[in-house]
Amino acid sequence: MRIRDYFRRLPHIWCPGCGNGTIINAMLRAIDEVGLKKDEIVAVSGIGCFGRATGYLDFYTLHTTHGRALAFATGIKLMKPEMKVFVLMGDGDAAAIGGNHLIHAARRDIDLIAIVANNSIYGMTGGQVSPTTPEMAKTTTTPEGCKERPFDLCELVLAAGGSYVARWTTYHVRQLQNSIKEALEHPGFSFIEVFSQCPVQFGRRNKKDHIQMLREFKEKSSLEGGGDKIKIGVFRR
Ligand code: SF4
Repeated sequence: MRIRDYFRRLPHIWCPGCGNGTIINAMLRAIDEVGLKKDEIVAVSGIGCFGRATGYLDFYTLHTTHGRALAFATGIKLMKPEMKVFVLMGDGDAAAIGGNHLIHAARRDIDLIAIVANNSIYGMTGGQVSPTTPEMAKTTTTPEGCKERPFDLCELVLAAGGSYVARWTTYHVRQLQNSIKEALEHPGFSFIEVFSQCPVQFGRRNKKDHIQMLREFKEKSSLEGGGDKIKIGVFRR
């Protein structure tokens, strides 16, 4: 990308307080530490707020259709096995319309690095319920609170056969960065879920700002999980 074109895309579209930038920051630091060159990397995304990351990254990038990022990435990896292929998805993108691609990419254990920014809602399209919306959380399509159980995405990918599976939050920046480094060296399907704050679509409806959400990520997460704790850590390597 020419530098002039790159800066024309800034400022980015993410809302103040959004967690997406933190995840991309950890990803870029991990790439830098591993010493990869930018032409050794492809970043593929679907549709959604986090999917817009490919517009700001100076790698080979592909902004694809909703839910299909893993399918496009599979094709790239087959044709260019020497490339490191990142797949950047939100929870709606990865687990709703793209859910089938997710379980089969894990089953095939394809050498991709899937990073899911899980903000528990459809952010870009107006705050609708997603497969990871917590029970009783309010969204535009569940104004009385969500009545369904959310997917545990890491358990889903573990059951389907993914060979590197981890979960962190946007509070756990160092751990996230280390996981991405491990994933870059792992020769199979790497799945990293990141609980990420969406203060605008999720927070506004559930009466939390980005500071409270980050504080909850800190205080309500543990390596053991249980109760209302978010279980974090590397679950398979
Ligand atoms: Fe981030 Fe939510 Fe805004 Fe999307 S809607 S950019 S996820 S804060």
